[in-house]
Amino acid sequence: MRLPIYMDHNATTPVDPRVVETMLPCFSEHFGNAASRTHPYGWAASKLVENARSSLAAAIGAHTEEIVFTSGATESNNLAIKGLALALKGRREHLVTCATEHKAVLDPTAALAKEGFATTVLPVDGRGRLDLERLTNALTPATALVSVMLANNETGTVHPIAAIAEACREHGIALHCDATQAVGKVAVDVNGLGIDLMSFSAHKIYGPKGVGALYVRRRKPRLHLVPILDGGGHEQGIRSGTLNVPGAVGFARALEIALAQMAAESARLAALRDRLECAVTSRLEGVTVNGDAENRIPNTLNLSFAGVDGAALLVGLKEVAVASGSACTSADPRPSHVLMAMGRSKELANASVRFSLGRGNTTEEVDVVADAVVREVERLRANSPLWRK
Ligand SMILES: *Cc1c(COP(=O)(O)O)cnc(C)c1O
Repeated sequence: MRLPIYMDHNATTPVDPRVVETMLPCFSEHFGNAASRTHPYGWAASKLVENARSSLAAAIGAHTEEIVFTSGATESNNLAIKGLALALKGRREHLVTCATEHKAVLDPTAALAKEGFATTVLPVDGRGRLDLERLTNALTPATALVSVMLANNETGTVHPIAAIAEACREHGIALHCDATQAVGKVAVDVNGLGIDLMSFSAHKIYGPKGVGALYVRRRKPRLHLVPILDGGGHEQGIRSGTLNVPGAVGFARALEIALAQMAAESARLAALRDRLECAVTSRLEGVTVNGDAENRIPNTLNLSFAGVDGAALLVGLKEVAVASGSACTSADPRPSHVLMAMGRSKELANASVRFSLGRGNTTEEVDVVADAVVREVERLRANSPLWRK
């Protein structure tokens, strides 16, 4: 058993060796620039990228030309939100999103607010669920875009995207979905769900860092985006810059592998996650499960421990690499905006731990982690004036 046990797969995943193997020739033998039209080096690179593009498109039920390669989901989110807002500037200047979105959605939305766009940030309930009626009521003839994630990265809560899409459709409003934590874990079909723009990323699905994609609907309706990066006009002019050929190839391979084993792996992870949840909650009082138990991606468990100092807990939990409710982005020590939006107190948000399981994790590891969590929480509570049964 390798220590600390890695249970932070929602932050990033190791690259699958099969993905590395597929990528390697792209660094050496097929090193060409995919935009070079005048020689076989360019043609070979272009072919690799186009194969990757059609594979990714097929995996989410899209057409090949609807996939735009980016540097990751952060860029995809920025491109979707800013690109669409700027395309509709002067006609529709209202954006709707949700309080529990990733910062890569909330921050571009806030940046547009500074430029004069009106924004509505929808609240959530204690399980992280948004109110569909409230969302529908927020839509106006001025609304340009609704951006709601598929699965939350901190709690795993899954939003009812198909129903949200229906409401958007009725009003002729585009729907962007950050599906970074859902792709490869649950079935995602852009037409079945009614999504118009969708962000996803390779490094969350055992692919390489630094490559992602944005799905852009090109039919019924055909969406127009203003690019963020201007340059050589790559990616149909939507995203200029020399294509990351190894990244694109690795991304496609990673998703192919994830989909091939998704049913079995998701069931395995859900069982492990439930085992961990049960082992901790059955042995400790004062534990809150953060998220929607009925609609949750299979690998994610977010727990808050009453009467415990969050920082001390993470220091004590040496056996496991996890994320806390306070240092989601390590540059930002404030309590998680997701847990705060769900109504947790600052103290409870800070005393939260996100366990995100992945391919490498085993039953033995779950048992070691559960024992460690129970031991540390009991130890901290024994010395804590905050904890009184
Ligand atoms: C990781 C993550 C991102 C950022 O993705 P990058 O590819 O690292 O930029 C965005 N949204 C969600 C939900 C994520 O989990």
